[in-house]
Amino acid sequence: MHPEILRDKPGPCPICGMDLEPIKPSQDDSEALREYHTWAKRFWLALIFTIPVVILAMSGLHYPKIQFLLTTIVLFWAGANLYVRAWTSVINRSLNMFSLIGLGTLSAYVFSLVALIFPQIFPDSLKMEGYLPLYFESAAVIITLVLLGQMLEARARGKTGMALSALIKESPKRARRIDSDGEHEVNIDEIKVGDHLRVLSGEKIPVDGALLEGQSHVDESIITGEAISIKKEKTDKVIAGTMNLEGSFIMLAEKVGSETLLAQIVDMVAKAQRTLPPIQRVADKVSRYFVPAVILVALVTFALWSLWGPQPRFINAFVYAVSVLIIACPCALGLATPISIIVGVGRAAQIGILIKNAEALEKLEKVTTLVIDKTGTLTEGFPSITDIISKEPVTSGKVLQIAASVEQGSEHPLSKAILQESKKKKINTLAVQNFEAITGMGVKANLENTVALVGNQALLKKFQLSIAQYLLESAQKLESQAKTVLYVVEGNDVIGLLAVADDVKPTSKEAIEGLHKLGLHIVMLTGDNEAVAENVAHDLNIDEYHAKVNPLEKGLWIERLKEQGDIVAMAGDGINDAVALAKADVGIAMGTGAGVALESAGVTLVHGDLKMIARAILLSHLTMRNIWQNLFFAFIYNCLGIPIAAGLLYPFWGITLTPMIAGVAMSFSSISVLLNALRLKKVSI
Ligand SMILES: [Mg+2]
Repeated sequence: MHPEILRDKPGPCPICGMDLEPIKPSQDDSEALREYHTWAKRFWLALIFTIPVVILAMSGLHYPKIQFLLTTIVLFWAGANLYVRAWTSVINRSLNMFSLIGLGTLSAYVFSLVALIFPQIFPDSLKMEGYLPLYFESAAVIITLVLLGQMLEARARGKTGMALSALIKESPKRARRIDSDGEHEVNIDEIKVGDHLRVLSGEKIPVDGALLEGQSHVDESIITGEAISIKKEKTDKVIAGTMNLEGSFIMLAEKVGSETLLAQIVDMVAKAQRTLPPIQRVADKVSRYFVPAVILVALVTFALWSLWGPQPRFINAFVYAVSVLIIACPCALGLATPISIIVGVGRAAQIGILIKNAEALEKLEKVTTLVIDKTGTLTEGFPSITDIISKEPVTSGKVLQIAASVEQGSEHPLSKAILQESKKKKINTLAVQNFEAITGMGVKANLENTVALVGNQALLKKFQLSIAQYLLESAQKLESQAKTVLYVVEGNDVIGLLAVADDVKPTSKEAIEGLHKLGLHIVMLTGDNEAVAENVAHDLNIDEYHAKVNPLEKGLWIERLKEQGDIVAMAGDGINDAVALAKADVGIAMGTGAGVALESAGVTLVHGDLKMIARAILLSHLTMRNIWQNLFFAFIYNCLGIPIAAGLLYPFWGITLTPMIAGVAMSFSSISVLLNALRLKKVSI
C-alpha cells in the first residue's frame, strides 16, 4: 500500500502497520483468505486465555501468578505481531492505533508485574484489602478485542486477487496452426508473429491478428462491451479472446503472448490492484494526536506528584503516571472501525449491494466523479425493438408478425430482437419457405402466397421498392436518434418499419438525476460510436462523454481524472471496463456483467440497477459517521478516567484509579460501540 516499501516475505508495513500485499496477486480463494485465518487463530487463542484471567480478577480469587502467566501468553504469543506493529510505528515516527494499544497494554502489564514481584516498594495507601491493584486482565482484554477487530477487518477486506484468474480464464489456451505439412493444434505459447492460424466457427480467436482468407461474424463483446457482432473480411483485424460466431477463416498472427490486447488488460488490472493508495484509517488519525497527548499528560502527572506529592514521592509519581497510560488505552479502539464496516456491509447486502472490500465502503462518500460505461451499464446491453411504425391500414402487430416470421431462421442479433419482441407481444409467426440471407442487406423468405423482406435501405434499392413519404420521414427521425431502422416488405409493398436500439435501462435516468443531486460529475466512456454516445448522453443528461474509447484508454481516463484531484468511482459491466474498474478509487460492477468486471470492482450492484449507487454513497456516509461515533465512545469513558488516574481527585476524596474503574470504562466503551454499530443495521437508505 505504500509502494516504496518492498519486502521479500509477507509481513506488516513499517509505515501503516497493515499487512503487505503480494506483488503477484494470488489466484485462489484460500490464498486470499489466509490473512483472515491467521488473525482468527490469534483471536481464539487470546480469547481462551483471557477468559480465565478475567474470571480470576473479577471474582476476587486473584491468583496473581496465574493471571501473570496467562496474560503473558495472550500478549506475547497471540498478540505478538501487534507489538511488532507498535514498535515499527515508533521507530518510523508514524504513530497509529497500534502505538496506542502497545503503550497502554504494556504499561498495564509492566506495572502489574512490578507490583507482583516487588509489592514492598509500594506504599500501603495504594493497597486495597491488602492487595496492590493488578491490571493483567485489562491488558489481556484489550489485546483480545484488538485481535477480534483485526480478524473482522481482514474478513471485510476479503478477496482482491481474483480478477486475474477470471481474466486468464478468458484467454484461449490452444490454436490451430497451418504449417507446410498441414494443420496442427498447438499450445498458445508456440504461436509466433507471422504464423497462419485457422479459426473454426464457435472457437475463440487465439491471438491478435488480421484475416487472410474467408469471412465471418465475430462477437467482440468481451473486449468492446458491444453486443452486436461485427462482420470480418479479408485484412480486418481480430482480437484474441473474442468469439468467432460463424464460418471458419484463416488469420495472420500479428501480436502474441504479452502483446495481445487481452494480455495487456490482465497486466494493467494487476498493476492497478497493487498500486491503489491505502485508505487512511480514522482510528489511526485519532491515535496520531492522542498518543503524544497521553504521554504528555503522563509526564505532567509524574512531574507534579514527584514535586508536591506525598512520600514516597517517586513511587507515587510512577504509579499515577502509569495509571494514566493504562486508563488511556481505549479497548474498543480496535473494534470501532471493523464493527461498523461489517454491519454496513451487511446492510448493503440486504438491498442488493455487495461490497467486497471495506475500502470501497469507506471511500464511496468521498467520490466526486462517477465514470460510467454505456453498453450494459446505462443500457440493457443488447438490441431490442424500440419503435414499430406501420403504413395504414396495416397494424403494427402485422408488421411485427411478418418480420418475425421471416427472421425465424436467422441468427443475427437484430433478428433475436425482433423474435423477442414478438414473443413478448404473443404474436404467432407464420410458416415460411425459401429463407435467404442477402449479405449486408437483410433477409428474404416466401410466405403462403407472397414474398416478404426485412432489411435496410440498400435492400429496398436492390428490389426497386418505393416507400411512402411519411415512413421515410419517420425512418430519418429514428436514425437521427442513432437507432437502426429495418424496413418490412410484403409483396411489393413497404408495410412498415422497425427501429432497433440498445435501449437505456428504465432506472438509468432516475439514477443519474439522483447522482447529480449528490453533486457528482458524471462522465460516460463507451466503445460505441459518436452518434449513439451523443444520443444516450443527451437523453440522460450526462455531463461529459467520450466515444470510441478502448479498454486501455478507459483506464487512462480514470488516471487523468485522478490526477486532477477527483475521487473517481467507475461503474461498468464488461472485460473492457476491468482496467478502469481496478484503477478507480471505487469500482462498481453490474451484477449482470462479466466475471472479470465483478472481480475487479469493490462493489457489485446485484440487479445492475444504477439507482443503488446513490444509496451506496449514502450508506457510506452513514457508516463513516457511525465509525466516528464509535471512536467517540471508545475514547470518552477512558478520557473521563484520565483525571482520576492522574490522581486529580486524590487530594480531595482519596479516589485513585483502581482495576474496577478501568474495567467499567472498558465495558462501557465496548458496549456503547457495539450498540451504536448495530444501529446501522436498521438505518433507512
Ligand atoms: Mg459494457
